[in-house]
Amino acid sequence: MCRITSSFIKLLEDIFYPAFCCVCKGRIDIRQSGTKDTEAACCETYPSFAKIVESVICPSCANGFVPIQPPLCTTCGEMFKSDEGMDHVCGACIDFPKKFCTARAAGAYSGPLMPAIHALKYNGRTGLARPLGELLFISLAKWFDINQIDMVVPVPLHKSKLRKRGFNQAYLLVRNWHRTARSYGLALPREKIKATVLARTQKTGSQTKLSRKERIENVKGAFCVTREADVSGKRVLLVDDVYTTGATVNECAKTLLAGGAARVDVLTLARAIRI
Ligand SMILES: [Zn+2]
Ligand SMILES: [Zn+2]
Repeated sequence: MCRITSSFIKLLEDIFYPAFCCVCKGRIDIRQSGTKDTEAACCETYPSFAKIVESVICPSCANGFVPIQPPLCTTCGEMFKSDEGMDHVCGACIDFPKKFCTARAAGAYSGPLMPAIHALKYNGRTGLARPLGELLFISLAKWFDINQIDMVVPVPLHKSKLRKRGFNQAYLLVRNWHRTARSYGLALPREKIKATVLARTQKTGSQTKLSRKERIENVKGAFCVTREADVSGKRVLLVDDVYTTGATVNECAKTLLAGGAARVDVLTLARAIRI
């Protein structure tokens, strides 16, 4: 499409469908978007955070994004305070050994990611799932070998919560990954995205105000594998929106492994950072 036509379409979109930043609520001038991508991305193959979210987060808010970078815990992926030194296992993973092999995330649960995830989860801005899902996919390509994954499993919600919210945000983030993969020249068949192999059978209270030990107790026995034949011998990538202490994903991993999965790794959009 010629540049004049493209600019004209963007002008019309801006007039009739103005875009607002989900962080500062300011209007995003989409006529300025799509023009440059000067910020260094995780590698040249993939666009930067600002570019991926340009239709939903303004450039100024996007600046506050904190990507997860080494050195980090080889198990849970926690970033260490010092940016020098080698990756190693953190104290929490020594004290509370994990069932999953590795957990990684796209960014810190701070800056623009926190309000963006809140807007998706609690305000029903499901349109955010597309750019945030792409961000998560790029994180998948950064941290994992896509060919070593047999199955992508979003952390399930209890059916009562699913009914109340109307959607599972973890599933929304991954449901178009087969298309996203194709757009980057990678292959992740749709059949590998399995939203129903794991179910949440217990209605657990919110984890937000609980201590680490209380979180572990709160989710104990809360999940089940719906058909063991589906997970038997499979290398599973478990996906969720936020990793806080890892209690939920660890319980899911325990359930999947008990159901016959060969290994479980974890990928989340955001990760709580201990200060
Ligand atoms: Zn903003
Ligand atoms: Zn750790």
